[in-house]
Amino acid sequence: MQIQSNFSLKKYNTFGIEASAKQFAAVHSIDELRTVLAENKNEKKFILGGGSNMLLTKDIDALVIHIDLKGKEIIKEDDDFVWVKSQAGEVWHDFVLWTIDNNFGGLENMSLIPGNVGTTPVQNIGAYGAEIKDTFVSCDAMNIETQETKTFTNAECNFGYRESIFKHEVKDQFIITSVIYKLTKRNHKINTSYGDILAELAKNNISQPTLKDVSNAVIAIRQSKLPDPKELGNSGSFFKNPILLKSDFEKIHQKFPEMKFYEVSPTEVKVPAGWLIEQAGFKGKRFGDAGVHKNQALVLVNYGNATGQEILAVSKQVQKTVFETFGIHIEAEVNVI
Ligand SMILES: Cc1cc2nc3c(=O)[nH]c(=O)nc-3n(C[C@H](O)[C@H](O)[C@H](O)COP(=O)(O)OP(=O)(O)OC[C@H]3O[C@@H](n4cnc5c(N)ncnc54)[C@H](O)[C@@H]3O)c2cc1C
Repeated sequence: MQIQSNFSLKKYNTFGIEASAKQFAAVHSIDELRTVLAENKNEKKFILGGGSNMLLTKDIDALVIHIDLKGKEIIKEDDDFVWVKSQAGEVWHDFVLWTIDNNFGGLENMSLIPGNVGTTPVQNIGAYGAEIKDTFVSCDAMNIETQETKTFTNAECNFGYRESIFKHEVKDQFIITSVIYKLTKRNHKINTSYGDILAELAKNNISQPTLKDVSNAVIAIRQSKLPDPKELGNSGSFFKNPILLKSDFEKIHQKFPEMKFYEVSPTEVKVPAGWLIEQAGFKGKRFGDAGVHKNQALVLVNYGNATGQEILAVSKQVQKTVFETFGIHIEAEVNVI
């Protein structure tokens, strides 16, 4: 394993931001990871997966450790379920396609989400009615200080909407090295609760969808709605959909009866942040090389040479205007570094 200095991270973040790492090491085995941590005890560390959920606003004055642990295996099965373990550096979408090729169900609605397997628990990734917490059994993680390994069960991860223990109580303390998912082998729970999926299946005359059909539908929808980071730098949804107490929401709703919302619990509703941003007039707006995507207002984009600071400034302007217009604070989903 080689440690490189002043290493450009442009190709390692999907926003395509030019920023450099003071030092950079890609690790390919648990032993390499343990060694690099033990031998660089006094260096600050920064953990990098696929770089699809971060906005780099400055150079990283730390040892950047890129987790490139590969491999996947079936560790247990019975007639109905299979327990699959994947190393953290596997590309998530390739892993999802592998599960579908093996007729293992549970991940198909999360096809084409960028990033690596090891990062999926960090923000409890989700899309089209599914979240990682629904199939996640446990993950192994290495303590950055002591290099000891700890297993976190589903309950211990405190999963919430784009939330987990790894963003709060144990933030920056552990590196996830592998994840185990429990998937169905038969009686798959095909989830087509999202209208977009049903419409896409209907377009192809599919009434009894297989796992592959759902995955293909999700891929087609995502390709039509979201910019491909290879063509236009972005990090997916920049903001979370705000969750409001019903009592607070009702007051706002009286002023803005056209406001869209979804009930998430008997006392809370979720408001689509994309709708708020669009109503605030930002959809398709461009400020130099930074901007808000023309089809999807939740997505901030780098048209070429935007700096992280310029994209951050757009995000702050969006937050401010949405708050001034609706009295609702929208929080960043992307990790601002
Ligand atoms: C076009 C596009 C669409 C997207 N759509 C979705 C979506 O539908 N749903 C969704 O949930 N997300 C979505 N995302 C966001 C992103 O894909 C996910 O958050 C993904 O899980 C990030 O993985 P990564 O490996 O790229 O993480 P990175 O960006 O590398 O890291 C994210 C954070 O996790 C930390 N981290 C990375 N690896 C580890 C590890 N092994 N152990 C501990 N900490 C670690 C990093 O330090 C950082 O703080 C989208 C992004 C893009 C670009």
